[in-house]
Amino acid sequence: MSPLLEVRGLNVVFDGFRAVTDLDFSVAAGELRFVIGPNGAGKTTLVDCITGRTKPASGRITFDGQEILGRREHRIVRMGIGRTFQTSVVFEELTVGENLDLAASFRRPLVSLLRRRRAYPDDVVQVLETTGLSDLVDRKAGVLSHGQRQWLEIGMLMVQQPRLLLLDEPVAGVSKSERERTGELLVEVARTHTVVVIEHDMEFLRRFATVVTVLHEGRLLCEGSVAEVQADPRVQEVYLGR
Ligand code: ADP
Repeated sequence: MSPLLEVRGLNVVFDGFRAVTDLDFSVAAGELRFVIGPNGAGKTTLVDCITGRTKPASGRITFDGQEILGRREHRIVRMGIGRTFQTSVVFEELTVGENLDLAASFRRPLVSLLRRRRAYPDDVVQVLETTGLSDLVDRKAGVLSHGQRQWLEIGMLMVQQPRLLLLDEPVAGVSKSERERTGELLVEVARTHTVVVIEHDMEFLRRFATVVTVLHEGRLLCEGSVAEVQADPRVQEVYLGR
């Protein structure tokens, strides 16, 4: 079966600096893939190219067999690719339910804010359950913990019904107990979606990752299970500093 996402020979150059070099990267439908690498490895640049934010110098990116390069960002979102950013995008003054409803209004009319209805539509209710945020539906997003905010952001992607979710460091700054829940949520989301996660936390990877892609200085260093990647001397040298 051909991969859902396929990146071939990607090159990105910023003012003469090669941020990504000859990168091949593919993800099968239904995978939960982790991408790691030291700062400056090219992880964000890769995601920026997939989402149409950065224009590569050369290469091909296909999603479900369709070429992505050359499409505008909003068109790529409509193809079914959603992403989170390292900086939060929730509306702090709105409640959890309202944030989800607003995100879903990308596909359908807004219910909670415009019509002042108390009950949320089924898509919001379902995501509240999946993310474990049902009890916090009326809580303002601004008072959520780091972990709860991450679950909300993942939920805000889910209500848009993407096929591929690209998540940027979902456990950065998140407490240990909430990390566990975030990992479980990622595994759950990957039952029905394809998920690519940029994440540095090795303990988290050991617990939840199956396949890990390691980037270094804009190139693919290696790919494999957590154990394989950790045992690779090149990874130990560049990433773990041993
Ligand atoms: P990572 O996400 O792995 O930390 P990035 O993809 O953010 O790495 O960056 C890869 C390299 O490209 C870094 O050296 C970074 O400084 C450089 N870079 C990223 N974005 C830009 C930009 N807009 N202009 C110039 N250099 C950039």
